[in-house]
Amino acid sequence: MKLHVDEKRCKGCNLCTLVCPYRIFRPGKRPNQKGVFVPELDRPERCPNTRLQALYGRTLCGMCQMICPDQAISWEEEKKGEKRKVAIEF
Ligand code: SF4
Ligand code: SF4
Repeated sequence: MKLHVDEKRCKGCNLCTLVCPYRIFRPGKRPNQKGVFVPELDRPERCPNTRLQALYGRTLCGMCQMICPDQAISWEEEKKGEKRKVAIEF
């Protein structure tokens, strides 16, 4: 699984950057076409959901998704043949 931020939904409120215990979300530096500063992701493969969600059969942590007022955050399966990134940090 990989972490996905839907740029069309995100309004750049940065609530996700406040709650992530791994500091995966960082304030965006460049505005997109709509002028929204979408947060950047710093090594999103560290998120427990990207590596353990399938194993546990449910969303783990999920703070960013819960707090996002625009339902812009989700996890999606890698495409066929796409490399999987895995990182574990304590
Ligand atoms: S689920 Fe938790 S650890 Fe993963 S990106 Fe969201 S807030 Fe960070
Ligand atoms: S909480 Fe949602 S809308 Fe706000 S910056 Fe993060 S992804 Fe965008």
